[in-house]
Amino acid sequence: MLVLGILLACTFLFALLAAVGGSYVAHAELQQAADIAAAVIERSPGDAPRERADALARANGADEVRVAELDGGSRLRIVVVGRAPAAFGMRRGARIEAEAFATLPPPVGDGGPNPPGVYAGPLEVVDGVRVCPTVAAAYRRMDGAASRDGITLTPTSGFRGYAEQAALYASLGPGLAAPPGASRHHDATELDINVGPAGSPTHSWLRDHGPSFGFVQRYSWEPWHWGYVAGC
Ligand SMILES: [Zn+2]
Repeated sequence: MLVLGILLACTFLFALLAAVGGSYVAHAELQQAADIAAAVIERSPGDAPRERADALARANGADEVRVAELDGGSRLRIVVVGRAPAAFGMRRGARIEAEAFATLPPPVGDGGPNPPGVYAGPLEVVDGVRVCPTVAAAYRRMDGAASRDGITLTPTSGFRGYAEQAALYASLGPGLAAPPGASRHHDATELDINVGPAGSPTHSWLRDHGPSFGFVQRYSWEPWHWGYVAGC
């Protein structure tokens, strides 16, 4: 009886150690997947860092990946999720997680007349203002829908280059204009639209329908400023 008891205890202990050991190894592998994703993202500037981090972690064994932007998008938190291995009849499936952080490299300069981070691709004119072709197409769809509802959209500003923003900043000051280099109007995704006061028919229409065309009001205190979320 005593021998049987000792045997059972030993078996239990061994199973426990194997399970813990297996999880430990699995966790180390998962941590490696997170670390690799973070290290590659830190060293390679480029588009869609979140998607790339996700793909890298999965390629290195993660079952599930969550990527969150931190510090206004300058850092990523990469959480990878995996499963502990099966051991001694225990169901495979204990969730294990590992995380890593990546500081995003500065955007690659485009070699154009604008400093890095300022859009330098093609521009199209819609209703008198310039935006990139993707945004122009989305705006035309939205403008058409607005017209059918009896709403006239009148943009007053679109893309602004660095020098234009510098001039605007000099004339309007820090209360009304962003400093050159810091304005979203450099992205060619933004439109200032003459909506009148917040809650006006035009503003209400945009609030109700803008998102279905990809546009959102960027700042709660600027009812006129609408940005195309998906980018150029
Ligand atoms: Zn604006």
